[in-house]
Amino acid sequence: MLPEPELRRLTELVPGDTPAGAAAAGTPGAATPGIEEFCREAEALLGPEGVLREEAVLDRCSRDWAHMSPILAARLPAGRAEVVLRPTGHDRLPALLSLAYRHRVPITPRGKGTGNYGQAIPLRGGAVLDLTGCNRVAEVGEGWIRAEAGAKMSDLEARARAAGQELWMFPSTFGTSLGGFLAGGSGGTGSLRHGTNGDGFVRELRIVPCTREAAPFTVTGAGALPYIHAYGTSGVIATATVRLAPARLWTGLFAAFGAWAPATAALAELVRLEPAPRLVSLDEPALVRTFGADPALDRDAHSLRAIVEEEAAPAARALVERHGGRVLDTRPAPEGPALISSLSFNHPTYHLMKAEEGWFHLEVAGDVLLGDTSAVKAVYPGTVLHLEGMRSGTVGMLMARYRDEPTVRRGIEALEELGVRVHDVHQWYVDRRVELVREAAARTDPRGLLNPGHLRAG
Ligand SMILES: Cc1cc2nc3c(=O)[nH]c(=O)nc-3n(C[C@H](O)[C@H](O)[C@H](O)COP(=O)(O)OP(=O)(O)OC[C@H]3O[C@@H](n4cnc5c(N)ncnc54)[C@H](O)[C@@H]3O)c2cc1C
Repeated sequence: MLPEPELRRLTELVPGDTPAGAAAAGTPGAATPGIEEFCREAEALLGPEGVLREEAVLDRCSRDWAHMSPILAARLPAGRAEVVLRPTGHDRLPALLSLAYRHRVPITPRGKGTGNYGQAIPLRGGAVLDLTGCNRVAEVGEGWIRAEAGAKMSDLEARARAAGQELWMFPSTFGTSLGGFLAGGSGGTGSLRHGTNGDGFVRELRIVPCTREAAPFTVTGAGALPYIHAYGTSGVIATATVRLAPARLWTGLFAAFGAWAPATAALAELVRLEPAPRLVSLDEPALVRTFGADPALDRDAHSLRAIVEEEAAPAARALVERHGGRVLDTRPAPEGPALISSLSFNHPTYHLMKAEEGWFHLEVAGDVLLGDTSAVKAVYPGTVLHLEGMRSGTVGMLMARYRDEPTVRRGIEALEELGVRVHDVHQWYVDRRVELVREAAARTDPRGLLNPGHLRAG
């Protein structure tokens, strides 16, 4: 346990940082009053195997991937569960949420805990609600699949494929939970065409609020938006129905370029290819060198990788060659597309940080990342770039050597002046559709008990 002043500093409230519900829940670092009674009643609901208090479990379930930000890493550990609840069916959730409400115990939902940037850290202690035991894939229909929140995205894709369909999208962390991806993630393989997980992917959610009755309710279409990327602060996702498309026959195309600008020109054109690719990624050689050795990845070249339909592979190859690139391999499914997915989005950052300490990263967007990026790269000396092609515009990760927080902040301003849109990954507050989330949370979480500390008051 950290000394009290240190704990206070780490979990200090910033101006406006109070839950959107009526009361601030939990005192950082202090035991939640009533936690023992809460645990006894939870045990009556779940049995002893569903109420875990071993130190190692509490530690493990209080962490996520916040340490990928050196700014957040300096604030860790920032909160610790007092108990971990592990239900094995979503029908148990209303009774647990009602119990948390009555005892005023903070409750932080959790899937696989791979969310970046501290979303899943129980900043005010209380209970972590581990949903990985609620993992049944319930039903597949024409264009949709319904599952419990703890089901793995990889299981959903497998079930969809068995029915001749495929997910609209899944993250590069393929084995993570449906609830975690919807409540904490953004997009991934498939987003090139279908956008983020808030762009129509969700057909229906069953939400459990933290109220006296905790009566579950269903939201559909745009009505689901206050619960997507809301870190569970507006309700616990019990089950979700998400969109499927007819399955396509994918292949992985691996290309190498001698320079960044022609590689980005090829990326921009590949994104517009018809039929649409599922994913197009680009990395500088400094990143490629941190990936596992593979003849499809030239460690001295810029690596452009695309998941394309088999019938589109000849057109994609011709396009690459027209821009001066070399196709190193076309590798069929499942291996080729799986490797390309596993190197997308935040995975290059992960590989770089694993290979060498001392890096930080930003999520960046804008077509200014294509072509000549010398001005962008001059903001932080030693910058390396990873790009993802989207029909809605280019996004990516910018990585550079970490000096200190003021340098990062000044750099963000300089990048924005150059036309780069920057998503600040060095904070753990809900930062999308915040007003919608607050409005929902005022109804669904009147005591401010759901993942408290992550939703700033307006
Ligand atoms: C190397 C790396 C690469 C990544 N790549 C991607 C990527 O390609 N795309 C992407 O979107 N993300 C990516 N992520 C982030 C993360 O892995 C994904 O978003 C993942 O799908 C989160 O799922 P999880 O089960 O680990 O969720 P968790 O980390 O357990 O939870 C995420 C958030 O959702 C909340 N939550 C969990 N379950 C529920 C529920 N049932 N109801 C309400 N709230 C809930 C948690 O409280 C937390 O705030 C990456 C992370 C890393 C470390």
